[in-house]
Amino acid sequence: MLIVITGPSGSGKSTLANRVLEELENVEFSVSHTTRQKRDTEIEGKDYHFVSEDEFKRMIQDEKLVEWAVVHGHYYGTAKKELARGTEEGDILLDIDVQGAGQIREKHKKAVFVFILPPLFPELRKRLEKRGQDSESAIQKRLGVARAEIQAYREFDYVVINDELTKAVEELKSVILSQRCRREIREKEIMPILRSFAERD
Ligand code: ADP
Ligand code: 5GP
Repeated sequence: MLIVITGPSGSGKSTLANRVLEELENVEFSVSHTTRQKRDTEIEGKDYHFVSEDEFKRMIQDEKLVEWAVVHGHYYGTAKKELARGTEEGDILLDIDVQGAGQIREKHKKAVFVFILPPLFPELRKRLEKRGQDSESAIQKRLGVARAEIQAYREFDYVVINDELTKAVEELKSVILSQRCRREIREKEIMPILRSFAERD
């Protein structure tokens, strides 16, 4: 199952993704490619694959990406091979923007889309400032984009409001766990149970 989380910069997508990866089994993170500068706290290959613009454009030409977009002036994209990492039972978690989510929706009808909202706009500003990883102008750019992209929540199946972190983590985990209980997803597990009922003691 593909789980797509989207939301304004600073809404807490990375924080929530990391917690879910720690706390739930069988979830893999889709490591995106980006041309933006690595932050001090980030690890190449874990948070992102950091590449040059030339490399990124080559990936587009070679059709290596399942989706890509220009976000806050930088290229971001998901390599097809990231999605192939999902096993039969395993889920893949994608942290991508609204444009990328739209492209995944076109190609993967069964993916689950979760929008992450911050509690209020001033709190989003505070969190971006406190994160201290973006320049003042980058923060302004991100806040400007946030005002527009927030409207896209209507296109999503679920909304998690990241006010109190523990509650938001529980909500995101609940979405994933409830999706895993869907009958069509469970069919493989159900079959041996049904067969056992058909056997004589
Ligand atoms: P995103 O990945 O959506 O850009 P981050 O996960 O980097 O957002 O979160 C932005 C900042 O807000 C980080 O410094 C993070 O520690 C902080 N943060 C995330 N969730 C909460 C929360 N529920 N309460 C307070 N701070 C939070
Ligand atoms: P950041 O620079 O804060 O890590 O991410 C900026 C924005 O880019 C976020 O909205 C994030 O979800 C988005 N993003 C990260 N990876 C991808 C990707 O592979 N594709 C797309 N379309 N957006 C991405």
